[in-house]
Amino acid sequence: MSTPAGDALLHQPLKEVIGGKTAAALNKAFGMNTVLDLLEHYPRRYAERGQLTDLQTLSEGESVTIMATIDSVTVRQMKARRGSILEAVVTDGRGHISVTFFNQKWREREFRAGRSGLFAGQISTYRGKRQLAHPQCILLPEGVDDDPDAVAAFAGAVIPVYPSSASITSWQLGAAVTIILDSIGELSSTIPESVRQRFALLDYGQALRMIHRPSSMAEVEQARHTLKFGEALLLQCVLAQRRSVLAASNAIPRVHTDSGLLASFDSRLPFQLTSGQQEVAAQISKDLAADHPMHRLLQGDVGTGKTVVALRAMLAVVDAGGQAALLAPTEVLAQQHYRWISQALGPLGQAGTLHGDPSGTKVALLTGSQRSTSRRAELLDVASGQAGIVIGTHALLQDRVEFADLALVVVDEQHRFGVEQRAALSDKALDGTRPHTLVMTATPIPRTLAMTVFGDLEVSTLTELPAGRAPITTHVVAVEEQPAHAARVWQRASEEVALGRRVFVVCPRIGDEIDQADAPGDESQASPLASVLETFHELSTQLPNNVRLGMLHGRMSADEKESTMQRFADTGAQDGIDVLVATTVIEVGVDVPEASTMIVLDADRFGISQLHQLRGRVGRGGLPGLCLLCTRMPAGSPARQRLDAVASTTDGFALSQLDLELRQEGDVLGATQSGVRSSLRLLQVLKDAEVIEQARQCAQALIDADPQLVGEPILAEAVARSNDQRQSEYLEKA
Ligand code: ADP
Ligand code: MG
Repeated sequence: MSTPAGDALLHQPLKEVIGGKTAAALNKAFGMNTVLDLLEHYPRRYAERGQLTDLQTLSEGESVTIMATIDSVTVRQMKARRGSILEAVVTDGRGHISVTFFNQKWREREFRAGRSGLFAGQISTYRGKRQLAHPQCILLPEGVDDDPDAVAAFAGAVIPVYPSSASITSWQLGAAVTIILDSIGELSSTIPESVRQRFALLDYGQALRMIHRPSSMAEVEQARHTLKFGEALLLQCVLAQRRSVLAASNAIPRVHTDSGLLASFDSRLPFQLTSGQQEVAAQISKDLAADHPMHRLLQGDVGTGKTVVALRAMLAVVDAGGQAALLAPTEVLAQQHYRWISQALGPLGQAGTLHGDPSGTKVALLTGSQRSTSRRAELLDVASGQAGIVIGTHALLQDRVEFADLALVVVDEQHRFGVEQRAALSDKALDGTRPHTLVMTATPIPRTLAMTVFGDLEVSTLTELPAGRAPITTHVVAVEEQPAHAARVWQRASEEVALGRRVFVVCPRIGDEIDQADAPGDESQASPLASVLETFHELSTQLPNNVRLGMLHGRMSADEKESTMQRFADTGAQDGIDVLVATTVIEVGVDVPEASTMIVLDADRFGISQLHQLRGRVGRGGLPGLCLLCTRMPAGSPARQRLDAVASTTDGFALSQLDLELRQEGDVLGATQSGVRSSLRLLQVLKDAEVIEQARQCAQALIDADPQLVGEPILAEAVARSNDQRQSEYLEKA
């Protein structure tokens, strides 16, 4: 099969095609290197000829491209300095705006009433009037605006407006694109012919021409649809190939025995698994017994009991002679998992010690801040296989950690880890095999996102809360509108403490040391956001003396954090903590059964999912939970509406969906998923569900029939390039 010459041109350096100066400017402004980089710089929007921009709607600071007609022109000499100002009033027939130039007397010849042109710049205000100072402009040839054909020839019916920068304008971009489109000739498509026919898609060259040089908005839509499909198909092929590699790669089947650790653990378990937990557990057992690696995402709202499910899976592989690693996103969480698991296992997790059950195993903890002596001992247990369960933070990923036989990797809170980080642990399995992987997330992931970002995982969902879970009541407290309610917050806190319960107080920032905060700082804001240090200070005078206060934040050492959590969690402790003032360090997973109350200060500063996670920290021990979201935002503001939404439901899935709708696409994919983000120009993960679904089905069918895509060399090459790019982005970040 011969490939069109245009294909080779796509990957040529821009400077060889459009001249060094423009290429350098494009590189500086947008990081473009190749012809393809420029062609994938799609117009942000389109100015439609004949449908003039409404000048009434322009607001200050906005960057605009308008098409307008010159109404009048005046030239004045400046008084204070030498030089002249040319001011033209332009109109789109509805509104007016003045366009000014300094010391460009030569423009007088061009700027004549009645001429039309395109003007681009930023709207500013001068003496109460909106203006465009020194805009970029192109005037239509004189006399032409009576002649529609000539106008169309000049500007086209639909004028693309490119994301531009100060040094390179939309027109310069358009001109550079035109040079390329005129010379590129035929291009082959990554989307196979059969798929294009089935979904009535354009060929690639056509789509590029139509998105850059459309003759109607209908063409733009058609082009966008094809290009989106192309992006989706590429991504889905990458994911389908990963799935097929996993399915084809080997894992050691881990079949647990009926009379092993898992069975002993189950008999110790003080509760019945929910039917959802049982179902997922059965699925996982089946996965673990297969000779290719499990790759499963376990999603479920906070408190649905994911950790128990994960621990049972870990015990199952230990029973089968392997080891399991549990990866937590933070040190506090790793320690918390360690404590919870050690306690849940009891003697079963203390093999080799006096109290240990000889049929049990050892639980090792590896964190970044560990002292080297204890770390060495733990590493030895891991390497010898004595430790069946290994818990840690990313420190676990370090090369020096060796496992005797790593069978299962459990990743807690997936959204903080990238796909590649999971892959790094996969390499630690025995030669020629991969470990089974279970990923847990408490942030319910909508289907489209699951299909794109997590498309290489199978998904299980826990929906029901374990029985006996007490309800959580949430109130929004408008501290400025209702000062009486605000005072009641702390009264409520001390009442809870008097009942032997624990209270969290979460602030959006850590704050300065108190003696500095008292000094006039440069914080010009009337009342800065609540901080941990200041709130701690205030509460120490405001709460009754017998209430024991503590604080937890990211500037404390790991040891301090750990001992503080311990004092808060342990209600029997002499030096216990009743009220813990903290940052969102405590956000994920921290489990204190006696914690009944969550007070969030300046709650509007947190996202919906974050608030929901925070709320999930209370009401875990059968005590009814109370969550108070304090805010200074006025009723009816968008911030207040978000808080009201959180207060109105405890359904994490509903909130997650709402959260996603309110956030930008980029935030959704998150920094760790940038490999996915950077390959998507037009496709919107949340809005283009249908395209994604179609592309997924096509990709799966293509890869099933031809895993290496031998029959689709163009697509295969694009997939390979996409993989390379992702890989290098990961390496750059590491
Ligand atoms: P998640 O990790 O999904 O937020 P956890 O696994 O931490 O939830 O479980 C939350 C709490 O509920 C834990 O204290 C756990 O012991 C308890 N739990 C889990 N499953 C059940 C169940 N089936 N019945 C009663 N309590 C349960
Ligand atoms: Mg958990």
